[in-house]
Amino acid sequence: MSMDAPEHEDEPSLEGGYDPETVESRWQQRWIDADVYAYDGDEKRDPNTVYSIDTPPPTVSGSLHMGHLYGSTLQDFAARFQRMHDGDVLFPFGYDDNGIASERLTESELDIRHQDYERREFQELCREVCQEYEDEFTEKMQDLGTSIDWNNTYKTIEPRVQRISQLSFLDLHEKGREYRKKAPAIWCPDCETAISQVEMEDDERGSHFNDIAFELASSDAPREEFVISTTRPELIPACVSVFVHPDDEDNQDLVGETARIPIFGHEVPIIEDERVDMEKGSGVVMCCTFGDQNDIEWYQAHDLPLRVAIDESATMTDLAGDYEGMSTEEAREAIVEDLEDEGYLRDRREITHAVQVHERCDTAVEYRVSKQWYVEILDHKEEYLEAGREMDWYPEKMFSRYEHWIEGLEWDWLISRQRDSGIPFPVWYCGDCDEPIMAEREALPVDPLSDEPPVDSCPECGHGEFVPEEDVFDTWATSSLTPLINAGWDWDAESESFTMDNPELYPFDLRPQGHDIISFWLFHTIVKCYEHTGEVPFDATMINGHVLDENREKMSKSRGNVVEPDKVLSEYPVDAVRFWAASAAVGDDFPYQEKDLTAGEKLLRKLWNASKLVDTLAPAHPDEPAELEAIDRWLLAELDDAVADLTAHLEDYEFAKARDRLRTFFWNTFCDDYLEIAKTREDNPSTQYALRTAHRTFLELWAPFLPHATEEIWQAVYVNDGADLDESSIHVRDWPAPQGYEADLEAGETAMEVISALRRYKSENQLPLNADLESVAVYGSIEGFEDAIQHVMHVQELTVLAEQPEITTEVAEIDLDYSTLGPKFGSKVGEIDAGIESGEYEIDEEEGVLRVAGEELADELFEVELERTYSGDGEMIETESAVVILE
Ligand SMILES: [Zn+2]
Ligand SMILES: [Zn+2]
Repeated sequence: MSMDAPEHEDEPSLEGGYDPETVESRWQQRWIDADVYAYDGDEKRDPNTVYSIDTPPPTVSGSLHMGHLYGSTLQDFAARFQRMHDGDVLFPFGYDDNGIASERLTESELDIRHQDYERREFQELCREVCQEYEDEFTEKMQDLGTSIDWNNTYKTIEPRVQRISQLSFLDLHEKGREYRKKAPAIWCPDCETAISQVEMEDDERGSHFNDIAFELASSDAPREEFVISTTRPELIPACVSVFVHPDDEDNQDLVGETARIPIFGHEVPIIEDERVDMEKGSGVVMCCTFGDQNDIEWYQAHDLPLRVAIDESATMTDLAGDYEGMSTEEAREAIVEDLEDEGYLRDRREITHAVQVHERCDTAVEYRVSKQWYVEILDHKEEYLEAGREMDWYPEKMFSRYEHWIEGLEWDWLISRQRDSGIPFPVWYCGDCDEPIMAEREALPVDPLSDEPPVDSCPECGHGEFVPEEDVFDTWATSSLTPLINAGWDWDAESESFTMDNPELYPFDLRPQGHDIISFWLFHTIVKCYEHTGEVPFDATMINGHVLDENREKMSKSRGNVVEPDKVLSEYPVDAVRFWAASAAVGDDFPYQEKDLTAGEKLLRKLWNASKLVDTLAPAHPDEPAELEAIDRWLLAELDDAVADLTAHLEDYEFAKARDRLRTFFWNTFCDDYLEIAKTREDNPSTQYALRTAHRTFLELWAPFLPHATEEIWQAVYVNDGADLDESSIHVRDWPAPQGYEADLEAGETAMEVISALRRYKSENQLPLNADLESVAVYGSIEGFEDAIQHVMHVQELTVLAEQPEITTEVAEIDLDYSTLGPKFGSKVGEIDAGIESGEYEIDEEEGVLRVAGEELADELFEVELERTYSGDGEMIETESAVVILE
């Protein structure tokens, strides 16, 4: 930005041009130093006036991106508005720094593998790497100037949060909402851990359909072979049965027979089951333990044996014979080759299909039998849906995403992870009978790897040795507790009940977050909080969209279209970036657009220059005159109207509507119209009072959007030196309320149109603004503003016309569509042209046709341009709702 620097860099001042670079960093630091945004949790608070936001703790896995910038700016609009409107706001900040994300970050940052370290050692390394990232992230967040209370922060790996997370585990266990089970689970072979349904996503990938012949084992079988189509031939060593649909007449003869698996030679039964998709391939399918979710259902329903051909890292096991030690991809190719050599491969064709992958690492998932902890959720689907319905959704349409997720749930929530960086399960198992021994609540947080269980012998069998649980919690098992973390949830041993340090915060007023984590974060938070407290944790949720590039494409590293916040903030003031962030309706994905940032810069300059002008026209604190003049009262009535609109928009999280309403009123009505008038009424006490009232209110209304510029101007103009910032800041002022000014708004607006029309007339005719105009007649409703118009525009005689002046409407031109006319009328076109030229034509408005040269032209062939002319004395100017005649 090339604006002149003010003379005194340290003190707020209206001198010179606006210098955002100096101003913004100065206020960011002062706000933090003076605790302007601190929530004093020790004071007794009224839950009805406290506004609490459960902000998303960013995952520590990299640096700040546009999504963070956008999301936290939206939260800040809400926080700043509510702070002014209602008083106490909790706007906290946290980091989600446990779990796979931070672990993978540590591995890549230090170029190590977690398997090569002791758990504690590796956790230490994670802590160190995360700390560095967090420090840098915090600095960048503070550069955004959001009104976060930096005294209210947490990390999901800190001991206090570990305690809450383990308390949650114990409470759900006691309530019978958790179980541990050895069963097939979704598995990521790259992360080498079980994962939950929500962490799986579909990815379109190229593959092959392989038609493989299976022989029937018995000599008196009805036929020799049948064909199975599969994309995963490497699973045939794990094949445990073959299925046929009961309605499949072509293949009924197979049911009850035994199939021999090619190459491997083991034999499996052929069974009928309704879950077979008859439309796929030959209609005969193999069941392997496990290729997909169907296999798991068959395995359980038909009590099939378990054949594990693929291990935890997706390497073939000894069950795969010659293929042992190969990766699944290598084995796939090798097995297909051998099937072909031995004559079993009947066909192979390329396809693309959806493969289920782990969303963190894009590795295709497998299914493995393992012992895992689950939170039971499938039996409470209805209750979670009802909880979702109880919240207000901004925008409302986002509820359907929540609904669809719950309706599609097929698995209970698997919360154990075979990883290192995470919060440990507070559990040991009896070395003999496997009975779980839970830690005592008072002792939390514990790590069973280093802490002792609370009993000396097993309460079930009396055995004296215990095995610690080595798994850690799923990261969402902890981040789903953020409302409870923010409210200071804890177990009180004395009263034997759960307590909250700040009960007035809960349920939270707002959960802001992106639409991509409705199924992850929002859903799991509702599950946890609902089960713990019986309450829906939020009154409302605000779901923001994603920031796209200028061509509305998703930003991605591989496309090379990522816009970095650092770069944006080095070129534009934060306030201008915020102006852009307010441009889209909440919930919509929207593009990063430089033109919006440039518009934001222009607005800052306008606000600055208007403030300087107001400063020269009126003293800072003029007295209120006994009676306001019509034009001034009208401005304040318009302002009342804008205040009411803005308040309603901001209460509904409609930031874009609020921003546009305010910008139009400020720029067009106040700056373009009223300020121009005010220049001509410099010493008028009524105008001075209106000017100052409007200016102060504008600063307050702009404050949530443009916090830096408004603070600078506010402090420079309206605050005495030496005032404490936590009391004098514009951001702790009361949000403006309508003052009850009455005026005929429509008449005032029409009068404004007349005044600007006359001003334009003077400048177009090179007349000075204070030049006298002898006589002006107005047709339009300007009642009550006649004096104002006369006074402002120096009109000697003003007449209000009762009837519209005689205006004739004439046809100025008729445009013909020659591309259709030519082919249709051929040589007649010349005559048609001549007829129009000479005026020998007729427009039949009723039928919508043009008659000329003996032809009739349909309405799509021509377009009529009309011209309005005034034939009386003087010059006519038309505005939107008035006609002005100058004589
Ligand atoms: Zn993974
Ligand atoms: Zn035991």
